[in-house]
Amino acid sequence: MSDLFDLGDKPRLGDVPRRMHAYAVRQNRFGPPRTAWRREILPTPSIGPDEVLVYVMASGINYNNVWAALGTPVDVIADRQRLGEPEDFHAGGSDCSGIVWAAGDNVRNVAVGDEVIVHSGWWRPDDPWVLSGRDPMLAESTRIWGYQTNYGSYGQFARAQAHQCIPKPERLTWEEAGCFLLCASTAYRMLMGWMGNTIEPDDPVLVWGAAGGLGSMALGITRAFSGRAIAVISDEAKRAFCLEHGAVGVINRNQFTHWGPMPDTNDAAAYGAWAKGARAFGKAIWDALGEKVSPRIVFEHPGEATLPTSIFVCATGGMVVICAGTTGYNVTMDLRYHWMRQKRFQGSHLSNDEQAAAVTALIASGRMDPCLSHTYAFDDLPECHQLMLENKHPYGNMAVLVNAVQSGMGATSSPAAEVARV
Ligand code: NAP
Repeated sequence: MSDLFDLGDKPRLGDVPRRMHAYAVRQNRFGPPRTAWRREILPTPSIGPDEVLVYVMASGINYNNVWAALGTPVDVIADRQRLGEPEDFHAGGSDCSGIVWAAGDNVRNVAVGDEVIVHSGWWRPDDPWVLSGRDPMLAESTRIWGYQTNYGSYGQFARAQAHQCIPKPERLTWEEAGCFLLCASTAYRMLMGWMGNTIEPDDPVLVWGAAGGLGSMALGITRAFSGRAIAVISDEAKRAFCLEHGAVGVINRNQFTHWGPMPDTNDAAAYGAWAKGARAFGKAIWDALGEKVSPRIVFEHPGEATLPTSIFVCATGGMVVICAGTTGYNVTMDLRYHWMRQKRFQGSHLSNDEQAAAVTALIASGRMDPCLSHTYAFDDLPECHQLMLENKHPYGNMAVLVNAVQSGMGATSSPAAEVARV
């Protein structure tokens, strides 16, 4: 067995080295991603009977590994150690394209040599909830792969459960295929997963952070289901991107100042000023749509700064669906609008196998763009997370090349055994 492949080596399919190059975080360097993420030589993980080892061609960059680098709101290393996992590092990464390099004895859905992308829903196969056939994303054992589990996509080899693998869309390059699925599958569950409040033709959908990873995917999904997305941005330079990716209108949030937790409803002056701002934002939505209709779905993730406005502007019987609290977790809302207008405030987290496959099918068929923003080299990985933390990253989804030696490759159906072609 080889000991270590250099990046750019041309290994034989199925040849697994003892060690690998991987980016990792350790507790003693939690902090800014630029210094927290460091390239190390780590042991190549072994796999269990339901798992696969994936030779990673390209990896997407996600915000969860900004949080992992910061060590907040959870220390993912300490969390895993509490569960009995010995490693004192976090080798993260929750999105990739690659080649199945080894497969456990129980694996039936993929075989060595298959070109795949990996979604990041991880759960224990023996979890009673999962075995009962119900939505595994609601199981107690569910974790986010490459964030709450080790050996994600930021290494030459990633360890994943076989059910996470989806055939790689042939039309996409390695980096296009590896960049989108975490955000796309999360957005799909948010917009199409909550019965009674899924996108119907002409539905207005308000999308916060519309040029970001999640937001760009929400624009694509809304367009694919004939909804009308209203994009929110903070920088005029993002306007054209949003319109090109399906938004019917764009609002610049910098034109408003009422952000943050809602003031005390007994403080008439402060509440009045807030309500004036929220109403003006609602009017901006009507202007963007060209008619006085409110969003049937509000696609939320900033949280504390925007949630009071989201609840206020949401249509009667509509839904504010939220998967994060990037600006803070201390959420306020004017409950009077919430109950009188019978709105729904729905938490949502990642996706199950079917939802990940459904959004991949949209992208594979060309109905939706993976929104690859920029392809970086492997060693740019810390800087990509730093850009994201500072909200200075390019629009859409970033990718880094891992074992792929140059961008633009992989968009064919050639056999994986010809991996040397990259
Ligand atoms: P991203 O690419 O950085 O996009 C976030 C967008 O939010 C930015 O483009 C920014 O757009 C907007 N934003 C920043 N500050 C804001 C503020 N104060 N008010 C309103 N909007 C603001 O990140 P992402 O990949 O979309 O992820 C966003 C969040 O969702 C992260 O916290 C991430 O961890 C989380 N997430 C959760 C799940 C899940 O399954 N639970 C899955 C994916 C991501 P503008 O500045 O242009 O407005």
